[in-house]
Amino acid sequence: MATLFQRSTIGALLAGIFDGDESVGELLKRGDFGLGTFNALDGEMVVLDGSCYHIRSDGSAEVADASNHTPFAAVTRFTAAHRFTVEDPTTRADLSRRIDEAGRSANITIAVRIAGRFSSITTRTVSAQTKPYPSLEEASRNETEIELRGVEGTLVGFRTPEFEHSIGVAGYHLHFLDSTRTRGGHMLDFTLAHGEVELMELTEIHLSLPTSGAFLTADLDPEDGAAQIRHAEGN
Ligand SMILES: [Zn+2]
Repeated sequence: MATLFQRSTIGALLAGIFDGDESVGELLKRGDFGLGTFNALDGEMVVLDGSCYHIRSDGSAEVADASNHTPFAAVTRFTAAHRFTVEDPTTRADLSRRIDEAGRSANITIAVRIAGRFSSITTRTVSAQTKPYPSLEEASRNETEIELRGVEGTLVGFRTPEFEHSIGVAGYHLHFLDSTRTRGGHMLDFTLAHGEVELMELTEIHLSLPTSGAFLTADLDPEDGAAQIRHAEGN
């Protein structure tokens, strides 16, 4: 059974809980594919082919230190169960529709891997915050967007059902890593020139929650939480 392993919740990140106790080394034992962020909200995480990459606010990427920690991450052991090829330029919206149609149900989480040449891709990357931490929405307000054109690379992430909106980022949440694995970020928009889409349904979820610190007393499901997440994540 394909399992999603997730550390903490997007609701906790939204509430400004930016420090966790799961190390990159521990996370990589849980999966070889996925995304997240680092303690203090210090950049975006991509896990691809068993390596963890740390993307900084200038969009540069490097292999993450195994001793770094994450407050929020989701990984799986990726094996493509379904794949299709894209031969003509396809926008984010059109490709999302094709993936939706390829899946059995909007109520099942899908791991999504899109590798190919992107005519354009717009990303942003959060930057390290200092205590007292702001909310995710405040922290993501000042991010710079970076647009890359004519770049080879891979989008890594998940399509999460709406009903899980305070646990994961409902809808598509994808992080980009270029083929040289030196640039990337949280994807806001793209046009895929051509490439291959690989999908895998995840019907088991292992949710690992903090047992100390701010997590214990935070409001993890505020009334406008879904809207706040959409705003902070650019969905
Ligand atoms: Zn992200």
